[in-house]
Amino acid sequence: MLNLILLGPPGAGKGTQALAIAGSLGLHRLSTGDLLRRHIRRESQLGAQARVFYDKGEYVPDCLVVAMVKEEITSFLPENGMVLDGFPRTVAQAEALERMLTEIGKRIDTVIEIDSDTEEIVRRAEGRRVCPEGHTYHMVKNPPRSGGRCDVDGLPLQQRVDDQPDTVRKRITVYHERTKPLLTYYAAKGLIQRVDGTQSIEEVTESIQHVLSNVGVR
Ligand code: AMP
Repeated sequence: MLNLILLGPPGAGKGTQALAIAGSLGLHRLSTGDLLRRHIRRESQLGAQARVFYDKGEYVPDCLVVAMVKEEITSFLPENGMVLDGFPRTVAQAEALERMLTEIGKRIDTVIEIDSDTEEIVRRAEGRRVCPEGHTYHMVKNPPRSGGRCDVDGLPLQQRVDDQPDTVRKRITVYHERTKPLLTYYAAKGLIQRVDGTQSIEEVTESIQHVLSNVGVR
């Protein structure tokens, strides 16, 4: 059982790395960004409430996100553990997560911060394309094999509305204001490990695997 959090600014590669790590360790990947995009696409009540914030690059209110995650965690109880991608993003979310996990006798084992810099983030966001199921590509660095469709499920790839340069810069500001305090929160618990997110995709995956073996998780 391993419960892992990936933290980092938008476009640092959390989604790509979460898929890689979840795949290699047999963990469930829980991405609040993907869950929210699914709600928005299906025009659910939650999707309508979330969209107002999502489209502007702002955080969706804690109560909505926490309720959504609680439903996920309690409905399927991942056996081997999970990789959390994009959650928690605020200290209030982290506290709610801790309560949820304690209730089911589980805990967070490690938190990996994937660091990156603003210019690299904006460049990545410009070239990023995603499929509705969350598989992510970069049109230059990691292009799909067949034009505009996902290699895994054949679904059409799209640019995210929040990947426009102005919105990306806004998301970076929000990250610094709201999520950076989480680094201190988890550092105080001795859980933070840091990897350099400006490396290639494969190098970042290797760094994460290295960190996990060093902390004795695998
Ligand atoms: P992501 O796909 O993780 O980059 O998330 C995309 C957008 O979804 C963010 O800019 C927020 O609007 C929203 N979002 C995702 N996760 C959270 C969260 N934990 N708390 C608040 N908003 C979130």
